Amino acid sequence: MNIEENIKEIKRFLANENCKLIAVSKTKSVEEIKVAYDAGQRDFGENKVQELQEKVPQLPADIRWHMIGHLQTNKVKYITTFVHLIHSVDSLKLLREINKQGKKSGRVINCLLQLHIASEESKFGLSESGLYELLTSDEFQSLQNINVTGLMGMATFTDNTEQVRSEFRYLKNIFDKVSEAYTVPNTSWNEISMGMSDDYQIAVKEGSTMIRVGSKIFGARIYH
Ligand SMILES: *Cc1c(COP(=O)(O)O)cnc(C)c1O
Repeated sequence: MNIEENIKEIKRFLANENCKLIAVSKTKSVEEIKVAYDAGQRDFGENKVQELQEKVPQLPADIRWHMIGHLQTNKVKYITTFVHLIHSVDSLKLLREINKQGKKSGRVINCLLQLHIASEESKFGLSESGLYELLTSDEFQSLQNINVTGLMGMATFTDNTEQVRSEFRYLKNIFDKVSEAYTVPNTSWNEISMGMSDDYQIAVKEGSTMIRVGSKIFGARIYH
C-alpha cells in the first residue's frame, strides 16, 4: 500500500469538486497516519473514543479530528476539548451532552446529524421524520454550544450501484429540503458527509461534500 499515492489518486478525483477527503485511520498506527500527514492530509476520522485519546497527543496539533463512529453519551467529555466535527449524532440526548461539554470547554462543537438511509437494519441514525422532529424541538433550538452543519449517511453494503446511488440521492434530497424549509438557530447547512472507499465516486456525483475513506488509503483493516 502506498498511502501517499492513494491519497493523490483520490485528490485527483476531487480536483474540481466541492468535496473534502476525510482519511479514516481507525485501527491504523500513528506511523501510518504520519505518512498521510506528510502527504498533506489534515482531516482524519476515527470511530472509537479511546483510540482517539491515544493517538491525538502523538500527532501534530493541526490535524482536524473527525469522530465518525457511534458515540456514547458518557464518552462525549473525552473528545469535546479537541474534536473538529462529530459526524454521528443521532439523538437529542447526545446533543444535550455535547452541548453541556462544549460549554465546559468554552467551545461550540460542530456536529452532523446521522440519517439512516440504508436498507439494512441498524440501531444508528435518525429517520427522516425523526430529523424534522428534532430540528423543530424547542430544546434543540436552545442549545448554544453546538452547531449542526449538515447530515451524514451510510449507504447499504451492496454491489448494486443503483441502490447506493438512490440512497445518496435520498440524503441529498433531505438536505435540500431542510436547508430550504427550516431556518433553525445553531444550524448552518453546508455539509453532506457520504461516500466511503467503495462508493465515494457515486457519492461525489450525488453531492457529497465530505467523503470518509479508509481502506482505499491505508489498506484493509485487520481486527485482532
Ligand atoms: C470505517 C468507516 C469508514 C471508512 O470505510 P472504508 O470502507 O474503509 O473506506 C467510513 N465511515 C464510517 C462511519 C466508518 O466507520
